[in-house]
Amino acid sequence: MIWRDGTLLSPGEGGVYGERTRGGYRVWDPRRSKFSALAHLDPTFDLAPGTRVLYLGAANGTTVSHVADYAEVVYAVEFAPRPMQDLLAVARRRTNIIPILADAGRPGQYAHLLEPVDLLFQDVAQPNQAAIAVRNRPFLVSGGRLVLMLKVRSIDQSRPLDEVGNEAVGVLEEGGFAIGSVRSLAPHHRDHLAILGRRVG
Ligand code: SAM
Repeated sequence: MIWRDGTLLSPGEGGVYGERTRGGYRVWDPRRSKFSALAHLDPTFDLAPGTRVLYLGAANGTTVSHVADYAEVVYAVEFAPRPMQDLLAVARRRTNIIPILADAGRPGQYAHLLEPVDLLFQDVAQPNQAAIAVRNRPFLVSGGRLVLMLKVRSIDQSRPLDEVGNEAVGVLEEGGFAIGSVRSLAPHHRDHLAILGRRVG
């Protein structure tokens, strides 16, 4: 990924959501995007050109647009009609975003639209976030990457982050992922854990 003086940049057409630009590149703000926050916190985290991405919880396409600046294709799943309208506008200006209005917990709704992907990225505020990732595991190539942004307070209002995170890791491991790391997204995003893993088998 492209960095200048500690700032993460992406190489697409600007003006998607009023983001700043620098030297002709779009500034990818860690406070507006958990993907960017993770890249700032984990120097080993990368998004290689040519990556095929299944993105669950696309919202209005803010982060999706940056991911699409690097990736080969982004299958962007969102179930709420209002943000989907914005996502459609973003997708119209790019050739590699496939917007999908569907429930990420019911992957049968969109299985026929996908090809195998290299990266499963998930950012949905649901109580069963880990189970949703497991249901979408079949779309990942063997050894493909999982990046799950766990919104802990959607699962439990009061328990410690690591306790809730450990439970999610258990569900993911049981469901066929090998988990490599779990890290907090503070100070950029409160009460969020980034869980990184790979599909086993
Ligand atoms: N990833 C986005 C970004 O960085 O720009 C922000 C995502 S926002 C925190 C969570 C989104 O997930 C919301 O737009 C919500 O409608 C969507 N969502 C929640 N549950 C979902 C589900 N089961 N299927 C699809 N989308 C879902």
